[in-house]
Amino acid sequence: MNLFTFIKSNVSIVTVVGEYATLRKAGIYLKAPCPFHSEKTPSFTVSPHKEIFYCFGCHAGGDVITFIAKAEHCTPLEAAKHLIDRYNLSVPESYASEIVQSPQKKRYFEVCQLIAQWCHEQLLKSPPALTYIKNRGFELGVIKRYEIGYFPGGLHAIKALLNDMNKHHILAEDLLEMNFLSRGKQVLFSPFEERIMFPIADHLGRVCGFGGRVWRPADARPKYYNSHENEFFSKGHLLFGLNTAKKEMQQRQKVLVVEGYTDALALAQHGYLHVVATLGTACTADHLKVLARYVQQVYLLYDGDKAGSQAVLRIAELCWQANLDLWVAVLPAGDDPASFLAQGKDIAPVIEQAQDIFGFFIAHTGQNYAQKPLAEKVAIARKILELIVRIEDPLKQDLLLAQAQHTLALPLESLRNEMYYIQNQQVPPPSIPIVVRSESDKAIRVREGDNLEKKIFYSIINNIELFTGQNQDFLCTYLPAPYKSVLQVLKDEKARNSQLSFTQFFPLLDESAQQIVSQVVLEYQEIVTSEVFEQLIIQLQRKHWKVIVNDIKLKLEHARLQGNEPEIHTLIECFIALKKQVLDNHKNAVGTYEENNQKK
Ligand SMILES: [Zn+2]
Repeated sequence: MNLFTFIKSNVSIVTVVGEYATLRKAGIYLKAPCPFHSEKTPSFTVSPHKEIFYCFGCHAGGDVITFIAKAEHCTPLEAAKHLIDRYNLSVPESYASEIVQSPQKKRYFEVCQLIAQWCHEQLLKSPPALTYIKNRGFELGVIKRYEIGYFPGGLHAIKALLNDMNKHHILAEDLLEMNFLSRGKQVLFSPFEERIMFPIADHLGRVCGFGGRVWRPADARPKYYNSHENEFFSKGHLLFGLNTAKKEMQQRQKVLVVEGYTDALALAQHGYLHVVATLGTACTADHLKVLARYVQQVYLLYDGDKAGSQAVLRIAELCWQANLDLWVAVLPAGDDPASFLAQGKDIAPVIEQAQDIFGFFIAHTGQNYAQKPLAEKVAIARKILELIVRIEDPLKQDLLLAQAQHTLALPLESLRNEMYYIQNQQVPPPSIPIVVRSESDKAIRVREGDNLEKKIFYSIINNIELFTGQNQDFLCTYLPAPYKSVLQVLKDEKARNSQLSFTQFFPLLDESAQQIVSQVVLEYQEIVTSEVFEQLIIQLQRKHWKVIVNDIKLKLEHARLQGNEPEIHTLIECFIALKKQVLDNHKNAVGTYEENNQKK
């Protein structure tokens, strides 16, 4: 057993997948609409017995580790860590070295989670704070979805918090160290007191910090207070609501990005669940890289005032680094998504009319171009061309050049010349690795029409005990690829461990092989008996009879040239036995497989 098999024997794939898709019983399997691609008829299938999944739509397949790695866009080891955290598995000492999760790190996330829960409970218990939030248009559903909380003010609240935390063996010192509490002259206090609490989770759903917003009208403190930056809480990476929105983002294949917590809540309240917010900071290249793991289409929803546009222009200069399609949806000046929705206006047309970010950049940078002095004109033209140069798609480049020509009122020819000049001058910028979006694009699929071979293969996969010494070599030779390479692994492994089980065997396969095996397991439900299996083998021998005979002839020839009498003897005996078996069975079983097949 290793770490992965330990995890698999302790968490059921049904439980794990159930958090991402709604599984329904279908025969001995479970089915759901695929969490990895958009579909109406469920083709995503899970085998609870074999602990694997396969999607007949997008051909994603594998075990629970593969599933999490795909759903959370992480490595298998990260997926293992995620499952350990999520299901509170106590990993035996012997595998613990494989996971480098420090106790301190684990503790940090635990404390944050407990504080989030405590604040959420306080909100539900505080009618004035709850009324304030409800008056802003947020219903209980969305408050619970985002675990919105309230940190009451005063010594009494601090004492209540410490009391509650003590039950979990968390001390005031811990909370001071995490900057959640501060030490005053005589008493402890918290900078979060009298603030509405927005818990911020990382992409694995672990709460790692908070944003606190004042709510009492007379409160003169800064509107927002955020957790201090630390190794687990970095505003330049984190996005509020990412973990909550992930499933919806993957289904809709797009994400809405806003600048404030309440904007995200307002959109979620109106059914736009695929929304995330930056933590009161501008969107960074790191944010874009995080989003690129999940979606291709990113919609920035910003207010129409200058700050909004400036933020967008900065992103335009960054986004060529990430393989994303960025769109800018601009709200009327002075409106943010929350205030816009609060007026009862429909935001859908605003999103639909979103502009391509490069087009937006050219239009805004070139604003009032004609009235500018010459030096500034040159600078603007260069700035726009420097952006266009970086775009890889030549068609898009042409379209933007045409737009630049229009905005700048310069001949296309001069723009092109200038662009080539920039291109040849520029040292290529350091490229940032872009996440490979979907392994399924490269999926090797099982060829159609190989019915007999496929049936033999799935008989073995469904019951690996059928794969014994007598037929191993034959099948590893005569079954087509990719089946024979899977069986070769099985053969080698069985030689090492005759008690090998399917769950031990499956993780030994590479990703494409796992996909093939999951597909085959989930496509065929029938269990093949050893008698039927023997018939199938004979069918295959008959199919390849000429080749087998040729093969034996060649071997005989070789043995004769070498004068290897014992080998000649063995080969002849083997040939006679095989011939007898094939012919005898041919008499008894002729057509059984074909007849059965025709009846289907
Ligand atoms: Zn799928």
